[in-house]
Amino acid sequence: MIRYKRTHDGEWVVTGPADEVQVGVATVTTREGHEKSEPIVRVGKPFNRDGERMRYGYLCKPCRYKCVHCREVVAPDTICRATDTKH
Ligand SMILES: [Zn+2]
Repeated sequence: MIRYKRTHDGEWVVTGPADEVQVGVATVTTREGHEKSEPIVRVGKPFNRDGERMRYGYLCKPCRYKCVHCREVVAPDTICRATDTKH
């Protein structure tokens, strides 16, 4: 499962199993259990956490914009809640 994590710089990144965190659109689970699509543009070196190979994924901030239909900050290739089509 891929989750959000806030770095020391206040930047939101994602972290999860190394084979799931890859460049491309990833499904990230929020603290509330919702799933969001996020564009990962860069990944970090794998590291061990509790015996599992994990790594960080860095999000594409310029890829995100506010959708005029659903009024949410969204990433490309996600499904719009208002129009049910891809952003
Ligand atoms: Zn939308």
